[in-house]
Amino acid sequence: MRSIELTAPAKINFRLDVLRRRPDGYHDLRMIMQRIDLCDRLSIALTDEPGIRVTCGREGVPDGPGNIAWRAASVLLELSGKPGGVGIDIVKNIPVAAGLGGGSSDCATVLAGLNDLLELGLSSEMLMEIGVGLGADVPFFLYGQTAIAEGIGERLSPVTVPAGIWLVLVNPNVPVSTAWVYQNLQLTKRDEEPILPCFYGSINDICTVLGNDLESVTIPRYPVIAEIKKRLLGAGARAALMSGSGPTVFGIFDDEAAARAASGILAENGQWFVVPTRTL
Ligand code: ATP
Repeated sequence: MRSIELTAPAKINFRLDVLRRRPDGYHDLRMIMQRIDLCDRLSIALTDEPGIRVTCGREGVPDGPGNIAWRAASVLLELSGKPGGVGIDIVKNIPVAAGLGGGSSDCATVLAGLNDLLELGLSSEMLMEIGVGLGADVPFFLYGQTAIAEGIGERLSPVTVPAGIWLVLVNPNVPVSTAWVYQNLQLTKRDEEPILPCFYGSINDICTVLGNDLESVTIPRYPVIAEIKKRLLGAGARAALMSGSGPTVFGIFDDEAAARAASGILAENGQWFVVPTRTL
């Protein structure tokens, strides 16, 4: 096998708690992470020509070594010790710098794809260990199921949620730097850290646990996020929350018809990226 076509899904956070700042500058987090059916498409090929080529063609996403997919390919190619190179073409459908983990997902997809193509036989644990050095959300995408993620995102445990929950994603087309958000976060002392349940039998159950500590940084800087939340609720969402460091907001809906109707209403704005999607 010389080439492979794969999808790289986006994620949302049903919950994101920032627990504490660590001496290394990172933050200890506790998140409920969910993959969704909005995907980049990657073609990954082994080439006779040495070196790594990544093309994406999306403004704001570098083509060369600055691309996280390039870095993933570089690590595995070097580990393989094989001659030749790798070519990666990315069709970017996931908004960039949007709190949807698009870069991390591309990275995880390249790690898994090249593990096969280069016949490396690395276990998922080994891929996850390599992945966390490249991006905090990479282990989650390799894990491949809904999870509670702790530490910087590398400690994962499974969570059960209803299948195929309908969502509407709304992104106001302003990129938000994750680093900026964490730099501006004012941590308040938490009284306790109640254990997050790992079983959610209904949409109602999920709505009771929703929360994102990073809204306190991103919303004051981008008030349009609060406006989007209000508009989603007005259009029938059961709940609406910012994902990751933002600015993308997701609304949770009872069914496909409700999600599509709301999506039509929100899209009337004309300036926002609006898409109905489902959880994976
Ligand atoms: P996170 O919440 O994990 O920080 P995000 O969804 O907010 O992720 P990404 O879309 O992953 O953000 O992109 C963050 C930055 O990474 C962008 O500024 C972009 O230039 C850079 N980047 C590098 N490679 C990629 C890639 N393959 N896809 C998207 N962005 C990439």
